[in-house]
Amino acid sequence: MSAEASPAARATALRRQLDAAAHAYYVLDRPTLSDAAYDQLFRELQALERDHPELADADSPTQRVGAAVGASHLAKHTHLVPMGSLDNAFDEAELAEWEGRLRKLTGDAVATAGYCCELKIDGAAISLTYRDGALVSAATRGNGSVGEEVTANVRTIPDIPRHLAGTGWPSLIELRGEVFMTFEGFERMNAERVRAGEPVFANPRNAAAGALRQKDPRETAKRPLRFFGYAFAVPGAAPLPFRSQWELLETLVAWGIPVAPARRHCASLEAVHDWARTLEREIRPTLPFAIDGGVVKVNALALQAELGVIGGRVPRWAIARKFAPDLAETTLLDIEVQVGRTGALTPRAVLAPVEVGGATITYATLHNFDLIAEKDLRLGDVVQVKRAGEVIPQVIGPVPERRTGTERTVSAPRRCPVCATPVVRDEAEVAISCPNVACPGRRLEALAHFTSREAMDIRGLSHQRLEQLIAAGLVTDVADLYALTAEQIGGLERFADRSAEQLVTAIAASKTQPLSRLLHALGIRHVGAESAKLLARAFGTMAALTAATVEQLEALHGVGRTMAEAVHAWGHDPVVRALLARLAQAGVRMDEPQAAVADGPFRGLKVVLTGTLPTLGRSEATALIEGAGGKVTSAVSKATDLVVAGEEAGSKLEKATALGIPVIDEPELLRRLGR
Ligand SMILES: [Zn+2]
Repeated sequence: MSAEASPAARATALRRQLDAAAHAYYVLDRPTLSDAAYDQLFRELQALERDHPELADADSPTQRVGAAVGASHLAKHTHLVPMGSLDNAFDEAELAEWEGRLRKLTGDAVATAGYCCELKIDGAAISLTYRDGALVSAATRGNGSVGEEVTANVRTIPDIPRHLAGTGWPSLIELRGEVFMTFEGFERMNAERVRAGEPVFANPRNAAAGALRQKDPRETAKRPLRFFGYAFAVPGAAPLPFRSQWELLETLVAWGIPVAPARRHCASLEAVHDWARTLEREIRPTLPFAIDGGVVKVNALALQAELGVIGGRVPRWAIARKFAPDLAETTLLDIEVQVGRTGALTPRAVLAPVEVGGATITYATLHNFDLIAEKDLRLGDVVQVKRAGEVIPQVIGPVPERRTGTERTVSAPRRCPVCATPVVRDEAEVAISCPNVACPGRRLEALAHFTSREAMDIRGLSHQRLEQLIAAGLVTDVADLYALTAEQIGGLERFADRSAEQLVTAIAASKTQPLSRLLHALGIRHVGAESAKLLARAFGTMAALTAATVEQLEALHGVGRTMAEAVHAWGHDPVVRALLARLAQAGVRMDEPQAAVADGPFRGLKVVLTGTLPTLGRSEATALIEGAGGKVTSAVSKATDLVVAGEEAGSKLEKATALGIPVIDEPELLRRLGR
C-alpha cells in the first residue's frame, strides 16, 4: 500500500485515518480500529515522519496525546502538570533498549534504584484534585494539558474517597489513576442495554469513558465504575511524604485510594522481564478487569525528575510493556450452528485465523441469532474479536467501514442441522431449539455435559470418545454409561485395554457424586450448578425433589417461577422418570450427603427465627441456615448464637436483647449467606 503512494500522500492518508479513529474512540466512545491496528498505523506514520522530516506537521496525530477537547457540554480543566502518555515496548528487546538508554543517561544509577512495575489498567485516565484532603475536582485527561471537568460524575464512584484518610497530604495535590469497569459489571451493563434496546459498548474501557462523560451523574452512578490510583502532581516543589513510586503507591493506600494489585519492585531488568512474563501468562487471565500490559517506572522520584519528559509529555522514566493485543480484526468466514444438550441451536463464528491475546483463534461465540441481526453481522465482514479474561473469544461486531458490498446476511436456520427436525422458537426466549429428544446432536452434548468436570467428573471421555461410543451403539443416554464393560470399550479403535479399565473405574467412581452434581449433570432447563446445589440442599433426596409442587419449589429463595415450573415438569416427564430409575438401579447416589451441607458461614451456630421475615418463609430460612452449616432451634437461651428477627417479633426478641445475643434482620441474613 505505502510502496505505491508518495510519502506525502501516504502521510496524509495515515493522518486522516488516525484522526478519524481517534475521534471515534475518544469522542464517540465507539472504536473503529483495534488497538493493534491503530498502533501499527501510528508507528508507520512515525517512521515516515522520521525518514521525511519535510513532512513534519504540528497537527499530525504523532504530535498529540489523547483526545481533542472539542465541542462538549463539559467545562474545561487545566491540569497542574500535563498528564503524559507513555511510550510502548512491545517485547523484551524494546524494553531492554529503553533500559539501556536510561543507564547511559544516569550512569547506571537506575540499576541501583530499581523499577516499580504496575498493571496497566485498560480504562479512562482521570486526575483528582484534593485541596486540604478534600476532593474538589476531577477531570479527564483530554489533550493532556486541558481536560474535561467530570467532578459530579466522579463523586458517584464509591472507590474514590471525598476526603483522604490518614495524614501528610500536601495542601494541593492531583492524584491520577484509571477509572475502569470489571468484566462482570461490563457484561451486566451491556445485557441491560440489550434489554433496553440501547447500543452495547465495545469494551469496558469505552464504557467507562462514556460513563464519565454522562450529562446526568445519576446515569454515571448506575454504571459499575471502579478506580485505581498510580500517579500524582503537585505545584512547584511542595514537600512530599514519599520518595519513590513504590512509596507513593503505599501512601495512596494509606490515604484510602485503591491501588491495583500484582505490583512488584524489581531490582534488575531481568526481574522486570520475569514480572512481565508472569503478568501476561499467569496473572492476566485471573484478573476480573482488563489490562493492556504493564507499566515499568524508574522507582526513585529524584531520578525521575532528573530524566524528565520528552516534549513536555512523554516521560523518559516510564514505559508501557504492551502485550499481544486482546482485540483484533479478522474476516467472518462462516456461521456454524451447534446443537446443545437441551436442543438449543447456537451460532458460532468461523473466523480467518487471527492472533488475539497471545493465542490463535478460529472460532468465537455469537450467543444467539437475534444478536447476529442486532449487530448486523454479515458473512465476509471484517469483524472485531475480543479475548480478554474470558476463555471463549467473542465477536464484538462488524467494521462497517470495511465493507465491499459482497457481504451476505445470515438468517436463523429453519431445521436442526443434525437431524433436520423443524426448529421451535420459545417466545419468552431468544433461543431457537431442536425439539427432537432423540436428536444425535443433543445426545452427544448431553453426555459430554453429564461427564464434565463440574458435573459427574468422569475423566477420560472426550467428545471424540463419546462419539465413538454412540457410533458403536453402546451408549444412547447417560444411564448406559454405567452398563459399559472394559471388554466392550477395549474392542473400540484407539482404546487400549488399560484405558478401558481406567474408564470403567472412573464411571463407577462417579456413582458416589452427591445429588447436587447429579442434578446439574442431568441438565434440567434453567437449572445451573448453583441452583442444583440449592435444590439438593433444600430437598435432600431425588424422591423429595421430584415430588415437590411448583409452589414448594417457588417458595425457595433463589428459585423463580420459570425454574420451579421447569423442575416440576422435568420430574413428571415419564422419560426422565425411567432414566432416574435406571440410574438408581445402577447404584448412582440419589441424595445430598450431610457432610457437604454442614460447612458454611453459619457452621456450628445455633440460630433462632422470630417474627415474619419480609420475603423468606420460615422453612425456607431454616433450610438456608442449615444449608450453611447452622442449626435452627425454637427457644432463645444462653446457648443461642444469633437471632434473626422480622416483623412483629415478640418475646423471643426481648429475651435475646436481654441476654445480649446478636440480632440481625433478613437483608443481613441474606448478606451473610452470600446472596
Ligand atoms: Zn436435532
